Amino acid sequence: MANLENIRHSLAHLLAYAVQKLYPGVKLGIGPTIENGFYYDFDLPKSITPADLPKIEDLMRQLIKKNLKFEKKLISAKEAKEIFKDQPYKLELIAELVKNDNEKVSIYQTENFIDLCKGPHINSTKEIDPNAFQLTKIAGAYWRGSEKNKMLTRIYGVAFQNKNELTNYLQKLEEAEKRDHRWLGQKLELFLIDEEVGAGLPLWMPKGEILRRIIENYLYQELSQEGYQWLRTPHIGNVNLWKTSGHWELYRENMYSPIKIDEEEYLLKPMNCPFHVKIFKSKLRSYKELPIKFAEFGTVYRYEKSGVLHGLTRVRGFTQDDAHIFCTPEQLAKEVEKLLRHGLNILKTFGFKNFDIYLSTRPEKYAGTEKIWKKAMNCLEFVLKKLKLNYAIDPGGGVFYGPKIDIK
Ligand SMILES: [Zn+2]
Ligand SMILES: [Zn+2]
Repeated sequence: MANLENIRHSLAHLLAYAVQKLYPGVKLGIGPTIENGFYYDFDLPKSITPADLPKIEDLMRQLIKKNLKFEKKLISAKEAKEIFKDQPYKLELIAELVKNDNEKVSIYQTENFIDLCKGPHINSTKEIDPNAFQLTKIAGAYWRGSEKNKMLTRIYGVAFQNKNELTNYLQKLEEAEKRDHRWLGQKLELFLIDEEVGAGLPLWMPKGEILRRIIENYLYQELSQEGYQWLRTPHIGNVNLWKTSGHWELYRENMYSPIKIDEEEYLLKPMNCPFHVKIFKSKLRSYKELPIKFAEFGTVYRYEKSGVLHGLTRVRGFTQDDAHIFCTPEQLAKEVEKLLRHGLNILKTFGFKNFDIYLSTRPEKYAGTEKIWKKAMNCLEFVLKKLKLNYAIDPGGGVFYGPKIDIK
């Protein structure tokens, strides 16, 4: 049986060939494989819609049935530039691949279709089951992913070894779509994302707020039982606070522009920590009082690129069940252990049974000394080992003020 990756990549070539036949004058971008399938980017002479996909698919099937060969050739960059003289995107790629015109580049030819390509491919289209692939969708994609470049049309496809596998995959996809929280949220009237309000800023509707309240009440009880005291802090703070905390210097790319109030600058909070620290420091504390644990349902705002926003899972404003524990160095390991056990139990209550656990180490930009970072790392590692939890290292994945145990 042919390698599935090679089948998928070969289908990308056939997609480009079919599009070239149907839309003469099309300029070709690139066509790699992706999870479960492939895509190809096109600069089309006219715009297309999903209704055009079956026609392209049919032509691809006809091509498959012709038992066409995938033939690799090494040619000079000079020859390649001649072959692709009407393909500006390919010319751009060739120019980057070689230093001079005598250098060789690799092309693949299938009947009258030629693509600049390293391969590998299948030998012949007869290795493809014509009923085991489907073109799935069309999307806009900037050439080379940069918004400075032209927006191309990306056609996606999925492909498998046989029809059965394809059917299974499409069924699973359909099931997943029915459970897509964005769709459910709208249908059940839980939350609303409205363009005029702003991207990544969900509005909680009456039924959604009931769910939230139930979850918050549960967490309120859980944390109260563990000795946390509850706080509530403002959504903005003076820029000087964020300078003291290090956020201004080390976390600014995740924060929004300052707001001017009476000649002073204020920032939306990306975290609650500086406020909690202020409350801790507001009076003299005795060692005997430690650990002191503060908790807050704190709504924070962090900058996310508009392209990565996704339902409730990537947003620009969200509420954390946040907490800070103030303790002595001697109490640290014990407190981390309690916190970790508690956190895992809460996740299990919500039905999350399988976790990936990461120990995230020091990022490039950080506050504090190397020595204290090492101490903190050792402590987290000690607790993970003590609880016999499997974990992977996430190098540089920590926050600027400390390493993390991440449970995903
Ligand atoms: Zn190829
Ligand atoms: Zn914090």
